[in-house]
Amino acid sequence: MTKRKANRNAAEASESEQQQWSKSKKKRMRVRLMKERQQAQSSAQLHTGMVQLNVVAPTCEKVSLEGKGRTIAVKAGSTPSSALQKAFQERLTGSRFRILNEELYTSTSTTAFQRFQQNPSLFDEYHEGFRHQVEQWPINPVTIIVEQLTQLYLTKRKAEKSNKIMKKIVVADFGCGEAELAKQLLMIRDSGNNTCPFTVHSFDLVAKGPNAELITACDAAHTPLPAATVDYGIFCLALMGTNLADFIREGHRVLKPDGSLLIAEVRSRFESATLSTMETKKNKSNQDVIKSSESSLQEFIQVLDQLGFETYHTDRTNTMFVLLNLKKNGKKPKKDLKYTAKPCIYKRR
Ligand code: SAH
Repeated sequence: MTKRKANRNAAEASESEQQQWSKSKKKRMRVRLMKERQQAQSSAQLHTGMVQLNVVAPTCEKVSLEGKGRTIAVKAGSTPSSALQKAFQERLTGSRFRILNEELYTSTSTTAFQRFQQNPSLFDEYHEGFRHQVEQWPINPVTIIVEQLTQLYLTKRKAEKSNKIMKKIVVADFGCGEAELAKQLLMIRDSGNNTCPFTVHSFDLVAKGPNAELITACDAAHTPLPAATVDYGIFCLALMGTNLADFIREGHRVLKPDGSLLIAEVRSRFESATLSTMETKKNKSNQDVIKSSESSLQEFIQVLDQLGFETYHTDRTNTMFVLLNLKKNGKKPKKDLKYTAKPCIYKRR
């Protein structure tokens, strides 16, 4: 996309609209248009050794917009007729996403489940904004997790030294969003026997979006999975809700004794200037409450220890998120421990 082309696009907005724009707004619009074109054209290719996956940038859903005293209706499926409408649309999508995001981080998972069940379109609103956020990151953590699981499978198969059909690897994706992880894993084929080596259970507050048939709607703190049936439990940017310990306890319950938990979380949630601010207090009902208004990764790892997990690998190489690999440490998860991490507040675009 050349600068000249972006300028031409901006010029397509009606003249009267453009006349109302300030110089700096015109400049912003040109930059925005250029970025959008680039995103739409970009398609990432992932090579896993066994498969090749094409991940194509998703298209935006259209919404009705209200701006500065007038309503601009953008019909579902239509193309916004002007750059101004498009800009309003983006701002609205962004604000709705940020509000919902904050709500999910600051309410309990039970409240979030009820709210999304009552109004499932909140899921679409959230994910439209979430997609935009992730597109701006150097890499989507889902891609890293797919690579990790593929490698783990290849290593396991090599160790078995045979081409016979191996037991499937059972994955549970807690807070799966639009089930991108399941979609990608289920496309993988073992070239030896042409079967997919994974069974994937995906859970989210509602089953919606392009892969809705792969999703089970539930509160991820209480899944319908039987105990000790999962090889890999995944929390990819999904430790939302103030009752974070409940999610980890659920992960512990469903995991096989030799299973692993993979957590990808936004760095800012677990990193702060102060490293040792954890207080263990007793609340009114004499339960342990770990206060983490200034939580750090170290504190979180300590909490995980009390919830029955040892962190055997920490990857902090990514600028946006941290990746943790956990296995059971033999301790029974503390039943009454409560833990809340800082919410991840996405900045206005
Ligand atoms: N893991 C996906 C989506 C991350 S967005 C990915 O990385 O692409 C976080 C997701 O967690 C959202 O889809 C949100 O609806 C879901 N979520 C938040 N609280 C939840 C809960 N209590 N139970 C199930 N899903 C939850």
